[in-house]
Amino acid sequence: MATILDGKALASEIRGDVALKVSELSQKYGRAPHLAVILVGEDPASQVYVRNKAIACEKAGIRNTTVNMPESTPEAELLAEIGRLNKADDVDGILVQLPLPGHICEDKVIEAIDKEKDVDGFHPLNVAGLWQKTPHIEPCTPMGVMMLLDAYNIDPKGKRAVVVGRSKIVGLPVAKMLLDRNATVTLCHTRTVNLADEVRRAEILIAAAGRPRMITGDMIAPGAVVIDVGINRDPQTGKLCGDVDFDTAAEKASAITPVPGGVGPMTIACLLLNTLRCFQRRLGDL
Ligand code: NAD
Repeated sequence: MATILDGKALASEIRGDVALKVSELSQKYGRAPHLAVILVGEDPASQVYVRNKAIACEKAGIRNTTVNMPESTPEAELLAEIGRLNKADDVDGILVQLPLPGHICEDKVIEAIDKEKDVDGFHPLNVAGLWQKTPHIEPCTPMGVMMLLDAYNIDPKGKRAVVVGRSKIVGLPVAKMLLDRNATVTLCHTRTVNLADEVRRAEILIAAAGRPRMITGDMIAPGAVVIDVGINRDPQTGKLCGDVDFDTAAEKASAITPVPGGVGPMTIACLLLNTLRCFQRRLGDL
């Protein structure tokens, strides 16, 4: 039976460490790190994500401000709000919850965030930093995946890693991070001709396609490490499930993340870590 890569436990450890450091630095500098989250509109899933981020901040002693803006907010108004937060000396991190309403250009909004406060690591200069190996803020989900591998002493060096999904926020950056750790990386997507064959070659598999249980046990090489980033609703039961069919994959894998309780909690922990680091960098204390 595969080792369960317990993202929930590791995330809780990281959150504990962040809380300790936040408490120490809050005393030293007379204020806590401050994360501002902007939510435009009333999408129920986004509201849940934003609320969870606020709760996680509160537990870690990080100050959180949620800026709620109506669905009809003109792009210029959102950009002006970001400009205000960029200038605010007591704001260390800025996150704009995605997706945004259709009339607002996401790229323009992300670009407007001060790259030093870009806790999501989505700003073009932070993305460039990842690809050019210059200092940058890492995107939270790929960062969480790498921390999970490290925590279980899974070294990507020399391994065949297969990433399913090439999104800007998960697939592409995690592929680059694996490459930087000397894995031999294959990046799969919707036009990949024989996905099962590619996946079968994986010693480390990262599934980030957003397709419920698309990857089944017969596609997993014996002994593979399986990281399931997917968060989907099972069309039959309505429950949360990953991109990997956990039960059949766990019979073949040497290690596997559950959904929920794998990569999801790591993403939030990394957001807190990024907020703490932005605070430290702004104070010259990192
Ligand atoms: P996305 O829709 O932006 O990208 C999905 C990618 O998967 C695309 O590149 C597409 O080419 C590929 N893909 C889709 N169907 C495929 C198929 N049948 N075969 C091969 N490739 C296929 O999604 P995303 O934002 O990268 O998110 C991916 C999944 O990860 C979603 O389930 C999302 O909810 C989840 N997610 C989880 C976390 C977390 O914290 N755990 C964070 C972000 C995203």
